[in-house]
Amino acid sequence: MNKTVLITGSTSGIGLGIANQFAKEGYNIMFHGLGSNGQEIANQVAEKHQVKVAFSNANLLQADAIDGLVAETIKIFGALHVLVNNAGIQFVSPIEDFPNSKYQNIIAINMNAVFYASKAVWAQMKKQQFGRIINVSSVHGIRASEYKSAYVTAKHGVIGMTKVLALEGAPFNITCNAICPGYVKTPLVVGQIKDQAKAHDMTEDEVVEKVMLKKQAVKQFVPLEAIADMAVLLAKDSSTTITGSSFVLDGGWSAQ
Ligand code: NAD
Repeated sequence: MNKTVLITGSTSGIGLGIANQFAKEGYNIMFHGLGSNGQEIANQVAEKHQVKVAFSNANLLQADAIDGLVAETIKIFGALHVLVNNAGIQFVSPIEDFPNSKYQNIIAINMNAVFYASKAVWAQMKKQQFGRIINVSSVHGIRASEYKSAYVTAKHGVIGMTKVLALEGAPFNITCNAICPGYVKTPLVVGQIKDQAKAHDMTEDEVVEKVMLKKQAVKQFVPLEAIADMAVLLAKDSSTTITGSSFVLDGGWSAQ
């Protein structure tokens, strides 16, 4: 039987990269994300890799919708082996101008949704005596940058939650780990380049060179494939003792 993975925010960027890699490995995939082309993206991956897929556009701002997303996944595929909490948003601003609504949405999507989704998969994973929860945090889960008060708070929170779930999951072969990428060139980052240019009063090229990649020793965006390979590794049966850890793929940023 093929295993099933639910990847939040898999219609774009890192989530889509992770979905492609799981599809190559033969997993059934529950695609998820906002936007109108999710089903089309899911179908393309299904056709390319001959795997079973479904798609949901549940809004992660609502706890009920997250419960529904998990229930739908289990109903369609009959199991749920891997949950990748990947969806996330960003907003960059000095704190004194940071809109409260933006702060609340970042905490809700980047952190609270990780709690709700993990809680919702728990009974199924316990029943299976197998579960792999993979949280896409960030180098900003272990380091700070100015103007990112909401994002850094949420991503640090996810690392704390990862450790707790690892402890609670241990008796049931449920592992929980975090992946902490540096900058990956996805639609989220392209948006940030624009925002940072405003915040720092720089051109977009200057932001890439002087702000984003400044902190990475390796002056390259982190490839999507590296993150996807790490996620597939963490999902393996043999990864049962890898738990409660954060895997940093940051081009040497946090080595300093
Ligand atoms: P992206 O903008 O390309 O994709 C985000 C996904 O989340 C999309 O599928 C979108 O539909 C979904 N999403 C957003 N809000 C949602 C909501 N309310 N309900 C349901 N789905 C929602 O972003 P990305 O760059 O691929 O980022 C993915 C994850 O990786 C995020 O958690 C982000 O913080 C993290 N991350 C990204 C980078 C980077 O450089 N891109 C670095 C470190 C960590």
